[in-house]
Amino acid sequence: MALIVQKFGGSSVADADRIRNVSRIITDTYRAGNQVVVVLSAQGDTTDDLIEKAAELNPNPSKREMDMLLATGEQQSISLCAMCIQGMGYPTVSLTGWQVGMRTNAAYGSARIDRVVGTRIREELEQDKIVLVAGFQGINKYYDVTTLGRGGSDTSAVALAAALHADLCQIYTDVDGVFTADPRIVPEAHKLDEITFDEMLELASLGAQVLHNRSVEMAKKYHVNLEVLSSFSGKPGTKVKEVVKKMEKSHVSGVAKDKNVARLALVGLRNEPGIAFKIFSLLAREEVNVDIILQSIGRGDQKDISFTVAKSDLEQAERILDENRESIGFDEIQVSDQVAKVSIVGAGMINNPGVAARMFEALYSAGININMISTSEIKVSVLVDIDDAERAVKAIHHKFFSDEMLYQQQQQQQQQL
Ligand code: ADP
Ligand code: ASP
Ligand code: MG
Repeated sequence: MALIVQKFGGSSVADADRIRNVSRIITDTYRAGNQVVVVLSAQGDTTDDLIEKAAELNPNPSKREMDMLLATGEQQSISLCAMCIQGMGYPTVSLTGWQVGMRTNAAYGSARIDRVVGTRIREELEQDKIVLVAGFQGINKYYDVTTLGRGGSDTSAVALAAALHADLCQIYTDVDGVFTADPRIVPEAHKLDEITFDEMLELASLGAQVLHNRSVEMAKKYHVNLEVLSSFSGKPGTKVKEVVKKMEKSHVSGVAKDKNVARLALVGLRNEPGIAFKIFSLLAREEVNVDIILQSIGRGDQKDISFTVAKSDLEQAERILDENRESIGFDEIQVSDQVAKVSIVGAGMINNPGVAARMFEALYSAGININMISTSEIKVSVLVDIDDAERAVKAIHHKFFSDEMLYQQQQQQQQQL
């Protein structure tokens, strides 16, 4: 008998028909002789609707009360699904994050899971019940409800799979698996049969919302057997693993875009030691995360530094810099939230120096200007204007995935010469 954790996202439980469909998947797994723990997200757009409701009453609601509100969406899904499964004649119970001992830190709105107690789940499983757990939520040391950040139900599922030593963690969603780009933007994107944890972590962190990035981090750390698949199609999905078979075949495994980015530029800084240290330690002290950083080469005694932050941190970052204008010393701050980050990811690019150039060529051919560039061993990111983002993803995807065969043939020919 295997223990399987299954997670269903918002569109998979959007209405009564979808809940019936999900209940069939769950009960089929149970009837096949497995123990089944299920994590559900809020139905459809429920979380967005709740955020709007809050804004009608207070433009700046406290994070604690927001968590109290948002956690109710997931609670609706699990109770409705439990009713459906009970109606089908199977033993089941729904449990909140609190009831399953999903202990988190105190950071309302983006809480991190410290540990999962899990005693109640084990007791219910011993009584042969299907256990439905509310995703996205936990409880902190004050016994307050917390949420894990948007998309966090994936992380709830992986945390439960790790804590219960599950044999498999299946993340059911509205596409057939992990694709080489968001299939809603790039229709010719193709589904990957497998992807490494490292590549998936980069893709998720760079905007591919198919998996919450912290779920991938946790799956890697605790060796969770992870799979992404569709609750709609019944097709085989994508396995997320430590090592995949055909790693060498393609240099790039995916393209991602992130519109949750803003750029700040400090113009007219003094060209002397310690300036970058001052700027970034001031931001770090107030927990503002900085991503791409670009420093100009300097003109005489002046230089400029530009960097990106999450859109939600823009106001705070601007305020911190403005308050310290005297001590940092600069002429002006320029900000823009009309930018997006587009990235390519692939473990195979480390030993292939041409990869970044091919990405830039794709952007050049599409007439797209690059504002900033950042690279690591397995990714290249560029900052472009927000209106160019989708065109950029399409152009880059076309370059790597339609021209890829041709390119590899040329490489092989060159090596043979
Ligand atoms: P769920 O509600 O099931 O958690 P999400 O909306 O969070 O679903 O994530 C699934 C969506 O992620 C897909 O509908 C797709 O548009 C988007 N997506 C972005 N990048 C990718 C990718 N590389 N592969 C698959 N889906 C992606
Ligand atoms: N319902 C939450 C959200 O919309 C959590 C999730 O779907 O994973 O972000
Ligand atoms: Mg999601």
